[in-house]
Amino acid sequence: MRSEEIPGTSGPVGTTVVWFRDDLRLADNAALQWAAARGPVVGLVVDEDPGVTGARQAGGASAWWRGRSLENLGTRLAGYRVPLLHLRGDPTVIVPALPGILGAGAVVWNRRYVEALCRVDAVVKQRLARQGVEVHSFAGHLLTEPWQVRSGGGGPYRVFTPYSRAARQLAEEATAAAVDDVPGVPDGLRGPVDPPAAVPFPAVPRSAPEPWTVTLERVWDPGEETALASLAAFTGDDRSSVSGREGTRAGYAVGRDFPGQDATSRLSPHLRHGELSPHRVWFAVGAAAERGDLRWEDAVALRTELLWRDFSWQRLYHRPDLATRCVREEFDRFPWRGDRSGATATDTATATEPCHPSAPDPVLAGDLAAWRSGETGFPLVDAGMRELWATGWMHNRVRMVVASFLTKNLLIHWRLGEEWFWDTLVDADPASNPFNWQWAAGCGDDASPYFRIFNPVTQQKKFDPDGEYVGRWTAAVDDPGSVVEPVVDLAVSREEALEAYRKIRQ
Ligand SMILES: Cc1cc2nc3c(=O)[nH]c(=O)nc-3n(C[C@H](O)[C@H](O)[C@H](O)COP(=O)(O)OP(=O)(O)OC[C@H]3O[C@@H](n4cnc5c(N)ncnc54)[C@H](O)[C@@H]3O)c2cc1C
Repeated sequence: MRSEEIPGTSGPVGTTVVWFRDDLRLADNAALQWAAARGPVVGLVVDEDPGVTGARQAGGASAWWRGRSLENLGTRLAGYRVPLLHLRGDPTVIVPALPGILGAGAVVWNRRYVEALCRVDAVVKQRLARQGVEVHSFAGHLLTEPWQVRSGGGGPYRVFTPYSRAARQLAEEATAAAVDDVPGVPDGLRGPVDPPAAVPFPAVPRSAPEPWTVTLERVWDPGEETALASLAAFTGDDRSSVSGREGTRAGYAVGRDFPGQDATSRLSPHLRHGELSPHRVWFAVGAAAERGDLRWEDAVALRTELLWRDFSWQRLYHRPDLATRCVREEFDRFPWRGDRSGATATDTATATEPCHPSAPDPVLAGDLAAWRSGETGFPLVDAGMRELWATGWMHNRVRMVVASFLTKNLLIHWRLGEEWFWDTLVDADPASNPFNWQWAAGCGDDASPYFRIFNPVTQQKKFDPDGEYVGRWTAAVDDPGSVVEPVVDLAVSREEALEAYRKIRQ
């Protein structure tokens, strides 16, 4: 059990509604655990209308994942006779109405950190409390809460290294407080004896999968069991459960930079949808290192990546406009293509309007289309974009290269890239995606320095020397005749980018 204070339950006094959001799991789920200790449980999922909440509409690939993961959650809960209501509409109306209809005395959930959704939760909490319904929220999506890690001055950190030092210590303390493992499925989990009463809100019907999701179906199997199996395969707990990944763990700290080596965990969509808790991953890699199944340097490196994930959420919490505004304001004057119509990289950057992509011009549209479809003529970029389209995922090293290429060689606004990733990544999340895009574009907190422009050709030589990765996704390696003409001159575009950067700094 983690050290977070969990409010005491007053014994088995009636049904509790557990509102599932980004925590589609039974194990290590503090809200579910509290509810199961109190009595029967009814699960709830609400497809929240973005027009009402003001939150961003989910992208296509992550919405597909969520749908499949919810099916899995429903099946798992049914195994404990816990019903899962899947409703659609305004959560500030639906959730407060349910206790009266279902005869439930409490509603619980695990917290979320998008500003618009925090507002929703505050309204729901207030309305429930007014009716005398017990309501609690718990931590579960991050290693530390975004307000928990403070700098010496009392404010939130904006630089990763000191943040990670402080956050690592807190995460380690929480792990040390675990008795011998992270909690599993709560003891005594069960549903009410009678099926829940009919509710006067539209249920979400099961819909047939859209044709474009066929490729995702081939690659992924969303749900908690697969998430746990993938973690076990990574940590050496169960070397046979995820085919083809055996033996990839030993070199994570180094191998994670080589996209052809498949050395990374591929846990990101599972973490995104809460099929696994980050605490479980943190704990599991430490336990694997103690057993000798994973080298400590690999466990520490993986934990550092989890801290980057927490840091992204911490930044979003304190900068709710992370997906729409450059954190470093001088970049509002940067002549991104797709920001001010007709602007080119060599224009004098004088615009002061906030950075927002506007309707692209035809040349820009062509370059953007080439980038999206993996036809830029640079094999590493093209391989990455094709991997993304085919699988809904892309290796981190290649994400950095394609983002640098879009923003620094094509000089296209980072928001246009962010939006494409948002729609196509199965792990697209409201914090990590804009945070990393701003990092790659040079305009975020603790960002990669602007003058650090990845050269996709040298990156390929360094990180895919045998063409293993590029060959997997493009024909270019075997068939030089299929090589696409480069859409841009790397040296010229690099100079243009640096010149534009010099101007905004004047
Ligand atoms: C432009 C760009 C956009 C990105 N968009 C997303 C996104 O929408 N969602 C997302 O989860 N990650 C995003 N990332 C971060 C990173 O690329 C992925 O988390 C990683 O590739 C997932 O693969 P993995 O699970 O095998 O990672 P591993 O190397 O095994 O890392 C373990 C976990 O740590 C977390 N993590 C790793 N790197 C980062 C990082 N840089 N920032 C935040 N968390 C990290 C992930 O949850 C990941 O599953 C983005 C990176 C870039 C450069």
